[in-house]
Amino acid sequence: MKTLARLRLSSWRILSPWHLVLILVISMSNVATAVEKTPVAIAIHGGAGTIRRDLMGPEMEIEYRAILSSATLAGHRVLTAGGSSRDAVIATITLMEGSPLFNAGHGAVFNHEGNIELDASIMEGRTLNAGAVAALTRIKSPITLANAVLDHSSHVMLVGAGAEVFAQQQGFDLVSNSYFKTERRRLQLERIIAKEQSVAQLPELSNSLLLKYQFDEKKLGTVGAVAIDQNGDIAAGTSTGGMTNKRFGRVGDAPIIGAGTYADNESCGISATGHGEYFIRAAVAHDICARMAYKGISLQKAQDEVVQNKLVKMGASGGVVGVDKDANVAFSFNSLGMYRASINKHGELVVKIFKED
Ligand code: ASP
Repeated sequence: MKTLARLRLSSWRILSPWHLVLILVISMSNVATAVEKTPVAIAIHGGAGTIRRDLMGPEMEIEYRAILSSATLAGHRVLTAGGSSRDAVIATITLMEGSPLFNAGHGAVFNHEGNIELDASIMEGRTLNAGAVAALTRIKSPITLANAVLDHSSHVMLVGAGAEVFAQQQGFDLVSNSYFKTERRRLQLERIIAKEQSVAQLPELSNSLLLKYQFDEKKLGTVGAVAIDQNGDIAAGTSTGGMTNKRFGRVGDAPIIGAGTYADNESCGISATGHGEYFIRAAVAHDICARMAYKGISLQKAQDEVVQNKLVKMGASGGVVGVDKDANVAFSFNSLGMYRASINKHGELVVKIFKED
């Protein structure tokens, strides 16, 4: 021991001041490399649709803006503390699932039978791992269960009763379906059923017009988030009750990897909201990331090509939010509004609702 100490001491003694300066510079540059981090960013949405200032009222607008900004900040705090983009997405989405303002978790829309069925998914851009759940009736935070599927199941998607058995095995509490139900959503279902019945009696209404009408009336509110963390890892997640008056067992795009949710560190992460039947067929989220990768175009351009062109041609309404590998954030929607917010790589918070915002 003593010999070792003597050796060390003597080796220090033979170092010239120049050597010492050199060692200092090298160790400082190592520290600099260790702390060098990718800028973080987050983009979120709370659904798209017929959202108009004159229909909303100032109090409601304030409430929406407040929760959009606190949900964005919740995710951003995780990122700035060095947490993963997946944890940031979960922090944002669980907060929104707990709010009656959105169509996810508590406050989700009713299906035709008057029950709530929830879908969610999450994807990690570094590994391309994903977890998805659908047609859940008793899980308080579907995004958390989707995350557990990613981490603890050899499958990508679990649905219905099987997903809930898995949830129990993972220690999740099951809640009653009534936890999700709100009066506002019940009235929405009643109105839609009444309107649908009267509209169906108009013989001149074509199928596609009927579909469009149904979407406009279905007051959306799906939630989603995309984030990039200090390691440059992207994650995307989406959670929803689907569409009001949907038939029992219907699954939308939100839990379909590549449709409502996608993340790839090589290009971008996307979370979508809109008429799921179209978003599934258009493979919206994957298509946007693929266009970026294959065509070398920007996130904004790729989003616009899909949302403003491809989806519009199909007659589909909705929008997307995304973050790319360089931490740029972008939104695109073709409806009257989309609840949306972001904190970009410069730390600037933006909260928007209407098209004219
Ligand atoms: N995309 C969801 C679905 O079709 C609905 C929405 O985004 O509002 O289930």
